[in-house]
Amino acid sequence: MTKPRILKVAIPAVPFFKLFEYLAPENSQNLQAGIRLEVPFGNRSKIAFLIATSIESDYPIEKLKLITRIIDDVPLLAEIDLKLLHWVAGYYHHPIGEVMSTAFPVALRQGKEAVIKKLPKLIEVETKTSQLICNDAQQNAIYKISATLGEFNIFVLDGVTGSGKTEVYMQLIQTVLDRNQQVLVLVPEITLTPQLQQRFQARFSTPIAISHSKLTDLQRKNTWLLMQSGACSLLLGTRSALFTPLPKIGLIILDEEHDSSFKQQEGFRFSARDVAVMRGKLANVPVILGSATPSLESLYNVKQHRYQHLSLPERAGNALPPLVQILDIRQQKLKEGLSAKLLEEMTTTLAKGEQVLLFLNRRGFAPTLICDDCGWVARCIHCDANLVIHRNKNLLRCHHCGTEHRLISTCPACQSPDLISLGLGTERLESVLTRLFTDKVVLRLDRDSTQKKGALDDFLAQIHAGAAHIILGTQLLAKGHHFPNVTLVAILDVDSGLFSTDFHSGEKLAQLIVQVSGRAGRELKQGKVLLQTRQPEHPLLTELLRDGYAKFAALALAEREMAGLPPFSYQALLRAHHENEELPQTFLQAVAALAQSLNEQNVQVLGAIPAPMARRAGQYRFQLLFQHTNRTTLHHLLRQLMPQILTLKLAAKVRWSLDVDPVDLF
Ligand code: ADP
Ligand code: ZN
Ligand code: ZN
Repeated sequence: MTKPRILKVAIPAVPFFKLFEYLAPENSQNLQAGIRLEVPFGNRSKIAFLIATSIESDYPIEKLKLITRIIDDVPLLAEIDLKLLHWVAGYYHHPIGEVMSTAFPVALRQGKEAVIKKLPKLIEVETKTSQLICNDAQQNAIYKISATLGEFNIFVLDGVTGSGKTEVYMQLIQTVLDRNQQVLVLVPEITLTPQLQQRFQARFSTPIAISHSKLTDLQRKNTWLLMQSGACSLLLGTRSALFTPLPKIGLIILDEEHDSSFKQQEGFRFSARDVAVMRGKLANVPVILGSATPSLESLYNVKQHRYQHLSLPERAGNALPPLVQILDIRQQKLKEGLSAKLLEEMTTTLAKGEQVLLFLNRRGFAPTLICDDCGWVARCIHCDANLVIHRNKNLLRCHHCGTEHRLISTCPACQSPDLISLGLGTERLESVLTRLFTDKVVLRLDRDSTQKKGALDDFLAQIHAGAAHIILGTQLLAKGHHFPNVTLVAILDVDSGLFSTDFHSGEKLAQLIVQVSGRAGRELKQGKVLLQTRQPEHPLLTELLRDGYAKFAALALAEREMAGLPPFSYQALLRAHHENEELPQTFLQAVAALAQSLNEQNVQVLGAIPAPMARRAGQYRFQLLFQHTNRTTLHHLLRQLMPQILTLKLAAKVRWSLDVDPVDLF
């Protein structure tokens, strides 16, 4: 029999959907799918992944080039990993080469040798904390999930903030570790890894591998190989850790499953949550999706009996739920965004030696610089956006493209010195709080203040040590943190979330309110939450406060059903941009025409329309939305369409990408 010498390989960063063919060296052994190879490509050489071998080629054999070298003797990925990657490439209609490359840490993508250079000393804690005695709801969850180890099942662990979800995870992890299996724990944000890492270290005697984008290439490679070789059993990481090979996988946990950070928003746009579910299915292991505010998709899947619902309705131990109140700020004189009532509550709380947390989702000093005399506004020349004032750095900065200018003191249009900083950002709030509460320590936590390595850890340590009294911050604060001495929480600007055009915005605002509220009074002292709004009768707020998140979610789902929106339909968004305004539009119109010619099942094709931010970083942005009530129908069309798009001339000229199950239409 002839030996298969034709190698079909995937090459990352080449945006082609096809595989490339090469010849194996005459004397080589049978090569296995999944190994890395080095191949000549144009006048360079590239790292490629072997997908399949064959004895035949579509091309004349003499035209095929010989590979340069074989990097791995045996594949670093198991068959099941390859299966997952193939599924993912198909589902997201993304080139397999790029998908494969996502699965590897950078060092291995570059062809480095797959050996562990340095074993980690992650730190040995002498005495381990013991398991807590669980309440009935926790016990029930642990019982139900442990009964299905070794089978595929998806559980939505729907537990109010502070209900002891982490304790449930830890007891289950212990059981899986005792079975000599591996556990994958995913969190949405890097900032959430340290506290979970600490709790795991205090509990488990097994080493814990950490994987996120802030580690060095060497660290990530080591972590990857430790898990891949089975030397380490517990992996904690962000969405980039999802594809780490785990030969002995026994359980997958996704904490804060509702968080849109689980969706990769650039390049290969995958949902770590949905892929984790598929991974659990292929590996035959349970998947736990934990949250105090489960996504509407997951709740819908519960309703459809695809996911199992486990609820932890009460805070664990003796902690009480926070009191949430609407603070009507209509016709109130606000002091830099703070109402008199809020200031009074803050004073009382601080006097008791307790901490206050203020949430404002806007970085910088103020979002707008406007001339009082002629109305000139500082705009970004590259984007449809205002420049944000960053007074600490003496800058005007665009939050969309990063353009920076020195802060000016006279109007460039009329030379007036009367420039006004309009609106409120975290920097401005910080300065006013420092002035109002002179004997208190104010700590600002946002992307600007936590740039430096270790800064966030320092801040969190200060909060825990009680060294900071007033904590203010953005999104960063909303997620999963546990601050026992915070008893007053306020959301300063609820209204900005009420009027977005994106249909996801109601769900996101409700989640934010519940999550931020969940930072209050997590131990013995009851917490209070104040929502400053000029829309005190807005149904989203009144229903959420009166009936809670579950009722809100049920209503929101009913609205989505009536409107035929996801999860009652499926969407894919084709985005295109170019510095020439006409090209992306013409391109998407051509795609729409192609789609219509293939479209037998009436998939809705909407557009091309300008993106909500029509110009960004000098690029004109347009989009085309595909929608259908049947997922298979939608994907059938996309599968036929994608190769045809590549035949369009403009496909090579404009930058474009497909986003399957988009989480925002931006
Ligand atoms: P969640 O992850 O749901 O927000 P945590 O697991 O962080 O909640 O638990 C909140 C607090 O309650 C923690 O201090 C934890 O130690 C404590 N806790 C959890 N379960 C119990 C229990 N069964 N009895 C007493 N305290 C508990
Ligand atoms: Zn002016
Ligand atoms: Zn800009």
